[in-house]
Amino acid sequence: MLTKDVLFGVNILSLAGLLLYALIAISAHFLMSLGQTLFHLYLGHRRFGGRFFRNHMQFHHVHYSGNHVVSAHYLDNGDNNTLFFLTPVALVVGLGYCFLRLDFFMVQLAAMSLSFYGHVYIDKQFHVAESWLGRFSWFRRKQQLHFVHHRHANCNFAVIDYFWDQLLGTYRTVTATRQAASSSAATSSAATSSAGQSATRDAPNPHPTKPNHSRSLCSSAFVAIARPWRPLWRRRSA
Ligand SMILES: [Zn+2]
Ligand SMILES: [Zn+2]
Repeated sequence: MLTKDVLFGVNILSLAGLLLYALIAISAHFLMSLGQTLFHLYLGHRRFGGRFFRNHMQFHHVHYSGNHVVSAHYLDNGDNNTLFFLTPVALVVGLGYCFLRLDFFMVQLAAMSLSFYGHVYIDKQFHVAESWLGRFSWFRRKQQLHFVHHRHANCNFAVIDYFWDQLLGTYRTVTATRQAASSSAATSSAATSSAGQSATRDAPNPHPTKPNHSRSLCSSAFVAIARPWRPLWRRRSA
């Protein structure tokens, strides 16, 4: 009986420990995805970002723009932007080393490393034609949201967790983009036929739309909780 109680106690402790590990790993990933979103928004698309801004805007957004959003192989100018993202990661990991227990620190380090690699890898796969990840619906959905970013550069800055864009007010749905493109095309067609003028291309809408109603229950709850705090950090895109 005593042995059974001890074993049961050990199991409870193990379960609590595993849950704690899972919590640390999930928090580390969300911290990483928030950092990626903020870096992309405030350094990749602001002159303040310096070299990171130039690399991102003058190469990535030039080579993948309009309807040309994929290539046989990922196009890279050899100037590695990954190092910019590594700076805050190293800072967080360093703080973890100072303040976390060794096993918690190892979990945080492993989760952040995996998350970091996942962001870099998935971001590249978005632009690879016939990527092996294309068989997964979650990938295709995120890929389409990223392509919206390449057509309207003031929205969808996340790579994996787009609820950060919803919180920041920079989320734009694929549906909204298609509707804008079709209405723009209809307007161009009408203008061409009536006035004989040349058709105009789809003009980017500078104002990202509000989040759609297809967001998951989890992200809806998250956004609802965080919405009152949004004015504290929200800055409209120029
Ligand atoms: Zn961008
Ligand atoms: Zn891209």
